[in-house]
Amino acid sequence: MTFPTSFLRTSTCAAAAAACVGAASAQEPLTTRCESAPIAALFKVFGDTGRMPPDLGRFLQNAALQRIEPYKAFDNVYYVGICWVSAWLITSPQGHVLIDALYGPYTGPMLDHIRQLGFDPQDIRQVVITHGHFDHAGGAAALKAALPRARFAMTAEGWREAAESAAESATRPNRWTMIDKDIVLTDGQVLQVGDIRLQAFETPGHTMGTASFAFDAYDGGRRHRAFTVGGLGLNAIKGPEQVEAFIASVKRIRALTEDATDPVTTHLTTHAFSNGLTEAKELLKTRKPGEPHPLVDPKGFRAQLDTLQAGAEQRLVAERAKKPN
Ligand SMILES: [Zn+2]
Repeated sequence: MTFPTSFLRTSTCAAAAAACVGAASAQEPLTTRCESAPIAALFKVFGDTGRMPPDLGRFLQNAALQRIEPYKAFDNVYYVGICWVSAWLITSPQGHVLIDALYGPYTGPMLDHIRQLGFDPQDIRQVVITHGHFDHAGGAAALKAALPRARFAMTAEGWREAAESAAESATRPNRWTMIDKDIVLTDGQVLQVGDIRLQAFETPGHTMGTASFAFDAYDGGRRHRAFTVGGLGLNAIKGPEQVEAFIASVKRIRALTEDATDPVTTHLTTHAFSNGLTEAKELLKTRKPGEPHPLVDPKGFRAQLDTLQAGAEQRLVAERAKKPN
């Protein structure tokens, strides 16, 4: 996600009145329990109008409402993100991998959460960053200072975008700085830390430098192929070519869910509201032995990808119509 300069501008909510029901009661929080539906509804308004609904803006800036408890999602995968942005810790006895850096006031507490789960943040060997927007890359500088032994990885374009995005923030209250380029990911590259094998995919679209990641998640010894889609929204689109790239990436990821030998079955999302992760993970608490894992949902993942593709195809028509001549 990214916030354009209209971040704090007032929205009329005219484009989706039903989703903006709460707007009249200005001080009522959008949700106090990080429910996916109201957050997703207002992000849709944001995406459709390019204007941040005030309710959503207030919610995203409310640190108390963003805080959620970290949790074990799989034997070797832990959620250490905040309400609206994910960070995933993949663990091994020989060291860990962290997907995404969070930002601002949340990166330090993320390290506390990692300790709370029983791991030493100093054992993080690799921090892989999906793309250059502040909510995923903004905490890289703080992490690098706190974790001097960790390496950081992005695609070449991701590094460029992150530097550009940080530079653009220099005059804004929520300014951030980016670290120097470290590991440059290429399509198909496998990063190995202990027994973790994390495969990077260049999936341009949300930004042109967006990377996605495939890795194994274990549940009681059973292996599931998990995937983190690096960018889900079309809120930072600069033209039809970018939408075309997004559609191609979504199709490619969908094909991975139908791979004949080792299909992806599990979407460990970058934004929990995008696929109801917040609600699905609650089922982990009451799950009985032998019951299916609530986050292993290939049908749900395919449906989400189909919805993303359909939305992008509509957007493509609109973006092409904007083009001169
Ligand atoms: Zn983004």
